[in-house]
Amino acid sequence: MEDNDTNKTEQSDSYEKICYICRRTESKAGPMINMPGGMCLCHDCMQKSFDSVLNSGLDFSKIQNMPYMNLNLSDFSKLNIPQPEIPQRQKIKKKSAREKPALNIKDIPAPHKIKASLDQYVIGQEQAKKVVSVAVYNHYKRVFAKENGQETDEVQIEKSNILMIGPTGSGKTYLVKTLARLLDVPLAIADATALTEAGYIGDDIESVVSKLLAAADNDVERAERGIIFIDEIDKIAKKKDVSTRDVSGESVQQELLKLLEGGLVEVPVGTNQKNALSPMATVNTDQILFICGGAFPDLERIIKERLNKASSIGFGSELKDKYDNDPDILTHVTNEDLRKFGMIPEFLGRLPIVVTLRKLTEPMLVEILKKPRNAILKQYIKLLELDEVKLIFEDDALEWIAKEALKRDTGARALRAILEEFMLDIMYEVPKDPGIGTVVITRGYLEKNGGPRIEMRH
Ligand code: ADP
Repeated sequence: MEDNDTNKTEQSDSYEKICYICRRTESKAGPMINMPGGMCLCHDCMQKSFDSVLNSGLDFSKIQNMPYMNLNLSDFSKLNIPQPEIPQRQKIKKKSAREKPALNIKDIPAPHKIKASLDQYVIGQEQAKKVVSVAVYNHYKRVFAKENGQETDEVQIEKSNILMIGPTGSGKTYLVKTLARLLDVPLAIADATALTEAGYIGDDIESVVSKLLAAADNDVERAERGIIFIDEIDKIAKKKDVSTRDVSGESVQQELLKLLEGGLVEVPVGTNQKNALSPMATVNTDQILFICGGAFPDLERIIKERLNKASSIGFGSELKDKYDNDPDILTHVTNEDLRKFGMIPEFLGRLPIVVTLRKLTEPMLVEILKKPRNAILKQYIKLLELDEVKLIFEDDALEWIAKEALKRDTGARALRAILEEFMLDIMYEVPKDPGIGTVVITRGYLEKNGGPRIEMRH
């Protein structure tokens, strides 16, 4: 009996109240006001509710007949009306002492060190890693120079927002994610296709800042040093020949301008929808690093056309199709090409750094399988190691997987899917027989010409 009681108190100690409106926890929003029915409200939301009622000129005398108006939530049980289910408490996050970040933004390491850290995770894409390392280095230098008042009026360091161009699955998102993790800064990933001009169905532009604020646990100061990655940016290219209003293309680019160049944005806390009741926070986007990424599918043709035209005119003209099979064609991209694609000049002007990522080749895919610190193969090997089984992949088996992945044309994304297909049976069967000591994945097994090679324990 006593045991039960202590359990109960332990349990209730590990929960804290959350505000019914903004969903912030008591440790963030301050002491809660207890409402009937076990609801809690934070002081901010309570005040906002009063303000909005008063401002709307609501006359209570006219709404006497509203059902349940005079009911306490606790009366629901008496009337046999099902009480609305309200999640009242949220598990307290164990405050893990913040891990020491691999790179410290306050004392930002030199670009080559940032790149060396990225190298442990991101395979290939050397040029992109180099450019991003320099950009990030400059960005945080600028942020802290400003904070320490080292930036003079004469020399203003420009913001180094980045435009990342590369085929799907080449590591754009992964590069940004890895970077944010290494620097321990909050990261928001938004999809440009979901964004529309304010007032239309879809997320408005400020929702990306809300996301970042949420990723920073509603800590405005932390959010202001974060990174916002806007994916699929090519999908908001200016639409050609449209007769209706272009609410998800050019206008979104226009609205993004003010975020990119840095300014104050008011965003709701704890939700990404504005309403009268949610508390608002003002975030300055000046120090937020914006990275926009996209596959820009038709861009290669635009670049090729320009280059072929230029090289086939005049004396010493080169072959007309010299660039047709150039795998690095994207590296020749200019602002002019991007404008032709449909990006507006003002928008491009605010993304001064353009990085291109290459399509991953077969040897790169093999490396991605085994090299990164959290490589998929290492994960499987570790899993079986826990059962004291050794897992070995033969080299030509890995080549086969990479070849298959290339066929699917989704870059490195296909690797995991292919591997999972084959590993399922192994992960299911091997633990059945404790005698198994080693499993060797052969090319034959992948080609369905036989099983994996099994070696028993001695
Ligand atoms: P996209 O370029 O479409 O944003 P992602 O970055 O989402 O592609 O890549 C998908 C997955 O493929 C990543 O989660 C990562 O595991 C893997 N991956 C892609 N490129 C690389 C790379 N260069 N090095 C290591 N892993 C990669």
